[in-house]
Amino acid sequence: MGRTNQFWHLTYPESTSGQAQWLRGAVELESVTCSLTPDHQRAGKRLSTLTVTLPNRPVDEIVWTWYSECLIQESVVRLFESHGFTGYELQPAQAVYRHAGNRRPPVLRELLVTGWSGMAAPESGIRLLQRCPVCRHAVYSCFAVADNLIDKSKWDGSDFFMVWPLPNFIFVTDRVCQALRTAGFRGFRLMPVSSLRCEGTLTPGRLSYVMPEDRARRLGEALGIF
Ligand SMILES: [Zn+2]
Repeated sequence: MGRTNQFWHLTYPESTSGQAQWLRGAVELESVTCSLTPDHQRAGKRLSTLTVTLPNRPVDEIVWTWYSECLIQESVVRLFESHGFTGYELQPAQAVYRHAGNRRPPVLRELLVTGWSGMAAPESGIRLLQRCPVCRHAVYSCFAVADNLIDKSKWDGSDFFMVWPLPNFIFVTDRVCQALRTAGFRGFRLMPVSSLRCEGTLTPGRLSYVMPEDRARRLGEALGIF
């Protein structure tokens, strides 16, 4: 097995017609302010359950929001459990159809990645450009060589895992890739890591925005990204 085929990027499908939207007014965000630089004011952690609206069409087994949150139906939950996959937690989510009707939307759960592969390897080209000492707002350069993103010596062996500073990228093992492809589910793409592209700079926020608090503290405190 070649290096590039060992890990995959699980992402939304090419068509966005099945994409979910946050239900207006139902999703509350932490507001982060900075006493040093007003420009650092931003949205932080989501404080409420993810509540989305779905387009009126058959709902894919895997559904994504415009903010890259990943929601899965029960059939996917069962698949992951039957394989004993590691590196994720499930959070309750709420969904309604965009156009009211009597149909009951499917049960969806939010997939939170808790597996970890540390900071992107320096060989990828990612470097910390600036970090605010007050609010911890951080800016990183983009990666140039996606193949070098994952530092395997820092990978905790999870089937689902995150690489910093790319909190919105779900990396998965070949086991997950095979299981999803075999199951014939809709609503996702699996891309080789080497195919990832990056433009501009990366502003990932804090690890605690995207991971359960305890886990984020344990992983991120020493790295200054909690
Ligand atoms: Zn700041």
